[in-house]
Amino acid sequence: MFDYKVIEKKYAQAILTQIRSKNTSQVEFRKGLVRLGRVLGLEIVEDFETEENPVETPLGVTYRGIKIKGFENVCIVTVLRAAWPLTEGLVKIFYSARQGVVAARRVEEKGMHDTEFDIEINYVKVPKFGGNDIVIISDVMVATGSTLIAVLRELLKRGRAKKYYIASVISTPIAIEKLRKFAQDAGIDLKLYTVAVDPELNSKGYIVPGLGDAGDRAFGT
Ligand code: URA
Repeated sequence: MFDYKVIEKKYAQAILTQIRSKNTSQVEFRKGLVRLGRVLGLEIVEDFETEENPVETPLGVTYRGIKIKGFENVCIVTVLRAAWPLTEGLVKIFYSARQGVVAARRVEEKGMHDTEFDIEINYVKVPKFGGNDIVIISDVMVATGSTLIAVLRELLKRGRAKKYYIASVISTPIAIEKLRKFAQDAGIDLKLYTVAVDPELNSKGYIVPGLGDAGDRAFGT
């Protein structure tokens, strides 16, 4: 199963506009990603089910509150390096999440063929997953989908989670369709959250209008 949601909230759109600007500094760019990470986290948590959680207040009355189901079973996987600040925001919401990291790189020297890149995975450190786990993959730019699909393949070698979310800032229609097909073929439940869907890729595989190279914008070249 696959689905996706575009976060159209004014707050998110205004921050995205700031980080799209070529005049935004490295520090402000990272801060923008942290803010968007929080927004994405709050949106993702809305997708979780809740259960009753009655508590007694200091006034001796019972308050019929709620608890978020599966909240303790979240693992956030950061796709290095651009997603690091995005994860910082996500962790503010999913404060009890386990974490994992994947270092993946597009082999740009070989170029893009048919909207695909070869992907080199250099480092994977993630927990094993089981049927109760909820995995949130933090990846800023979902351009061709090649990186994310390579990451998902790596994660699936480590067991099958109940559900997979992608927290991203900008995605493209091409990547969304590839992810839909991958989720169907792999039989996983996958939902992409993104702040924008930009229409195209340039010949080097950069999203247009995009925001440039997110890793370089956040950490320098
Ligand atoms: N990765 C980036 O950082 N930017 C793009 O536009 C595409 C992939």
